[in-house]
Amino acid sequence: MELLKKRILEDASVYEGNVLKVDSFLNHQLDVGLLDAMGKEFKKRFSDVPVTKILTVEASGISLACMTAVYFNVPVIFAKKSNALNMEEDTYNSKAYSYTRSAEYIMKVSKRYIDNNDSVLIIDDFLANGEAAMGLIEIARQAGAKVVGIGDAIEKGFQKGGNMLREKGFKVESLVIVKSMENGNIIFEE
Ligand code: 5GP
Repeated sequence: MELLKKRILEDASVYEGNVLKVDSFLNHQLDVGLLDAMGKEFKKRFSDVPVTKILTVEASGISLACMTAVYFNVPVIFAKKSNALNMEEDTYNSKAYSYTRSAEYIMKVSKRYIDNNDSVLIIDDFLANGEAAMGLIEIARQAGAKVVGIGDAIEKGFQKGGNMLREKGFKVESLVIVKSMENGNIIFEE
């Protein structure tokens, strides 16, 4: 998506540990016009699959998930992050390792909001090692829901998540794929 590539080149910065900071338009201040264009693009790319719910994880996936949900006209569910290991009976739970925080966390979704009639589209801001996506897939599995696709704004193609999920047979759509960002020089895949 050319608009997003342009914005990354203009406003993103590369931090230690291959972390791309996009706080000025996606992760802290939100460019709603750009988010809207991204939601519309996801609708185009996933127009061939049935979607009953959009599933993401708090907090940075929520805005993009909401703008996407407008185009699909379906609800958004965001998994809540928790450090508590105790498993509650009324939630589906899974574990993921946070790339940016270097710590494990638990994701929880109430059993009230997802079930075996659902076809779920997973949306997130970044795809790195695929930990967040795998955690959300596990929640869908526990609910008996079908995962019909995984959409993310920025895939870091030099990390393993995208390929791992595609090899498992998921339809993965990334609006941009960063091939490398060595020395702060961001290069995209075509
Ligand atoms: P994964 O779970 O695929 O390893 O990493 C994706 C999650 O980690 C996303 O939900 C995102 O919040 C965070 N993340 C991973 N890499 C980056 C990055 O380079 N920049 C930012 N801002 N977040 C990232």
